[in-house]
Amino acid sequence: MFDLQEIRADFPLLGRKVYGKPLVYLDNGATAQKPRQVIDKVNYLHSELNGNIHRGAHYLSEECTSEYEAAREAVRRFIGAGSTREIVFTSGATQSINTVAYSYGEKFVHEGDNIVVTEMEHHANIVPWQLLCERKGAELRVLPFSDDGSLRTDRLPELLDKRTKMVAITQASNVLGTRPDLKYVIHMAHDAGVPVLVDGCQGIVHGGVDVRELDCDFYVFSGHKLYGPTGIGVLWAKEKWLEAMPPFLGGGDMVKTVTFAKTIYAELPLKFEAGTTNFIGAIGLGEAVRYLETLDLVALGQHEHALLDYTTEKLLQIPGLRIYGQTPDKCSIVSFTAEGTHPYDIGMILDKMGIAVRTGTHCAEPVMTHYGLTGMVRASLALYNTLEEADRLAEGVAKAVTMLRG
Ligand code: PLP
Repeated sequence: MFDLQEIRADFPLLGRKVYGKPLVYLDNGATAQKPRQVIDKVNYLHSELNGNIHRGAHYLSEECTSEYEAAREAVRRFIGAGSTREIVFTSGATQSINTVAYSYGEKFVHEGDNIVVTEMEHHANIVPWQLLCERKGAELRVLPFSDDGSLRTDRLPELLDKRTKMVAITQASNVLGTRPDLKYVIHMAHDAGVPVLVDGCQGIVHGGVDVRELDCDFYVFSGHKLYGPTGIGVLWAKEKWLEAMPPFLGGGDMVKTVTFAKTIYAELPLKFEAGTTNFIGAIGLGEAVRYLETLDLVALGQHEHALLDYTTEKLLQIPGLRIYGQTPDKCSIVSFTAEGTHPYDIGMILDKMGIAVRTGTHCAEPVMTHYGLTGMVRASLALYNTLEEADRLAEGVAKAVTMLRG
């Protein structure tokens, strides 16, 4: 079990006030707050240990290198990967997906091939594939979702053929909260000989992952949504793919030897870590993972689910309010509109009450287009949110709606 107040006390920012009101932070899908353990670690690194990794023959460099590699091991453990050779540190999920789209695409995608994405992807899992398709003369195919937010996996077989080179799919939609049936999608794709990239940005936060059990080919996520620092992320891939793919970026640290005639690349995973990486961020992410490992994540998952049900029920009491995404096992993300109001106005009014939500397209314009909308309000709940905060949100939205409807 867990003590929610004790957990909240680990996150100093949650104790602050905004416009003189206690903060209610419900924009966790955009970025999560950091526990003291992560903040202290990053401060310690900056004030006492900073030394560039894999390079120096001195104490600071060596200590930082071993902390960096320990963070890689912590991430490996957390996502159930078989080897640290498969864990590439990037600047975030966006860079991870671009790395695969570029590097895998360079080698394996040709004119007339196709890539399958879903209608509920974040732009980060659409645009890199569009760029690849434009570069190569390939086709982007889209697996649709139904109005209730469920993915039409029944339509997958008609999209897969001999020229399909990748299925890129989210573990959990950042707007609808939907968790597609990944096992089924991966099974279908593999049967057709197609690899699968899973965007784990929201999924890893709400329920975690075991990449070996899932049997996907690529898995990406961002540190800052997982209670870690900003500017760090992970690309996990089966070793066979990382071995087969050419490097994405060239530079220092990703090479074994360089001559003007030929360069031999470094072993995995360094082949994909050109230049000075965000090693302080990576070590901070390792600390975030270690922090999460001290918690009862199963109980906290149940808490988040109860919070989601409660928030949904409260919001639906407001006349004219519609929630998008109603699949039974969705993660704790509630996106909504209220008749006769603009999402941005609701967000502004909530802000003045100390309640942080997100408004707009949530970097998922195709989802907005599906419903004929230009935006939604999104409350994304984290393990440290409370029922009282859900009450404040519902009261705040009710007040905002009354004000805006005149
Ligand atoms: N994928 C999903 C599902 C997301 O929610 C986000 C961010 O909101 C991203 C990808 C992109 O993450 P980042 O901007 O950290 O690279």
